[in-house]
Amino acid sequence: MALILNTTEIASALINFEATYPELCRRLQLPKKTYEGRVCHALQIAKGHAQHKPVVLIIAGVHAREWGGPDIVVNFAGDLLRAYSKGKGLQYLKKTFLARDIRTIVEESTLVVFPCVNPDGVEFSHTKRYLWRKNRNPAHSKGDAKKIGVDINRNYDFMWDFKKFFHPAAWTDSLASDNPAIETFHGPEPFSEPETQNVRWLMDRFNPVLFLDLHSYDGDVLFSWGSDENQITDPSQNFINPAYNGKRGRIGDTYREYLSMRDYETATGIATAVSDAMRDVRNRPSGLNQDVFLHSRIQLRGGHQRSVSSDLESEDTRQDDARRHTGAYRFLSHTANLGRAAFAARHLVSVGSSARELKFGCIDGVIETTAAVCPGQ
Ligand SMILES: [Zn+2]
Repeated sequence: MALILNTTEIASALINFEATYPELCRRLQLPKKTYEGRVCHALQIAKGHAQHKPVVLIIAGVHAREWGGPDIVVNFAGDLLRAYSKGKGLQYLKKTFLARDIRTIVEESTLVVFPCVNPDGVEFSHTKRYLWRKNRNPAHSKGDAKKIGVDINRNYDFMWDFKKFFHPAAWTDSLASDNPAIETFHGPEPFSEPETQNVRWLMDRFNPVLFLDLHSYDGDVLFSWGSDENQITDPSQNFINPAYNGKRGRIGDTYREYLSMRDYETATGIATAVSDAMRDVRNRPSGLNQDVFLHSRIQLRGGHQRSVSSDLESEDTRQDDARRHTGAYRFLSHTANLGRAAFAARHLVSVGSSARELKFGCIDGVIETTAAVCPGQ
């Protein structure tokens, strides 16, 4: 029995959901095939007309080796659909969702889940090299297998040109790289990759009020901004202002990224709710950070600034490697994992009315991986 869903199983799960709950969900074929020709699907969950309801978008599987994210999203969708169709609630360890909570999610919002953004990379990680991170695009490798792939999480358009926006002191490999041999290679241009184009398509189509990107490592919840520390007093210090180009990204200096007080309170409120829920479901503490501390990427499009994702960095990656090699990862029960995602969505939805008015979208989620059984072990 496979403990981690492979890409075929992820795709099959969405087909089964659509067949089992035709009144509640439908698959959405995304416009771009991956380099290896895979067709990607998201699942839209909504009761009745989806129009005019706040949309929550949850994605996973951006980084290939961060196993567990797709499983969490798939099982979250399945639990939600099953509970709603039976008029029941859900219980995850210390966290309870009443039947009316489930109804709120399904009836008063549109939930869109895209469980596996980078299936080529995930498949490669499952079958060939389990620490693979990027996609499998060989266009910039010049025949060198070690230079294959673009980091999907560095390929969005927010501050893609990192050497223009950030202070040279912040130009580390964890921020981004223009070298295809590096794990954070950001590609030849913003949105050069089919995987990021598919996420953009969902963003454009649904204009979600809230967005959650499940990565792995250590159960942190990360939220906007990701370009510098936050501040709430000087609106001129923001990433759109070219006067600060080349000055961003250093922790502890005078430049900090602006958030209005309201946005700040909303973002931290949501992130705190998610973190508290993770604690209840996992029965141990979870972290809460503004995501600059992992140098996440943020997308800016059409006047809406949306946090798109965040992720492992080099030091964390080394620890991650070590953990995997020593087999120290625990395989967390599906129940626990589902609860994290479910509660995240519950709270994201519950604050939807205020979050809808945010200038920026949402928060990031970095959820501890479920990866426990590595190929060959
Ligand atoms: Zn990641």
